Amino acid sequence: MQGPSTITGADYQLLRSLHEEGVFEHVDIGEIKQDIVVAVLCADGHRFGDGYEHATCACGRNVHPLTKHGGALVLARDSPFARTHRKGVALHHDLTLLQDIENALGFKQTPHVLSFAHFPCAIANEHNLSVLDVLILHVQAKERLREEIPHCDARCLVHIDYLGHRTKRRFASYFLNRQKFFAWMQRHHPERLPELYGELAA
Ligand SMILES: [Zn+2]
Repeated sequence: MQGPSTITGADYQLLRSLHEEGVFEHVDIGEIKQDIVVAVLCADGHRFGDGYEHATCACGRNVHPLTKHGGALVLARDSPFARTHRKGVALHHDLTLLQDIENALGFKQTPHVLSFAHFPCAIANEHNLSVLDVLILHVQAKERLREEIPHCDARCLVHIDYLGHRTKRRFASYFLNRQKFFAWMQRHHPERLPELYGELAA
């Protein structure tokens, strides 16, 4: 990994239209009224600091960060980087992250998790994931969290590095409104809805 990863102008156009159609929602300062939240973020050194700051603004207090390459996307059912091998040994990144989240919720006595996906993301680029692929994995990751840690209250956030594609501010974070995302998928990509509802894929 050299400089910051990038995505195309068409990708930014899609991200902008998701924002305009209400799929991405503004994050109010202090919206999550908790003393502390657990934030799952990609380790990307060009964007982690800003994402962490946005997580701090969302809860207005303290953030307990957990990082993985790809952030919460390793938890998704269809994640291409949830499990890898090193010298013949299987590495289960999804299981270690799940355990880290469960431990953090216990240590800090909070049910709140801010689950981040971000654009552009080097590991997503490495696996040729489109914007839509990443958003689908993001929703799948939240479903996995809900299944595996039932007392966890997770919200999906999207962090964007506009890299000159927007003039006001370089970075922004938004909540992903799942209902509006499903409706958007129904309008634009109904063929991929089964990926969001595992039971429909069977
Ligand atoms: Zn990343």
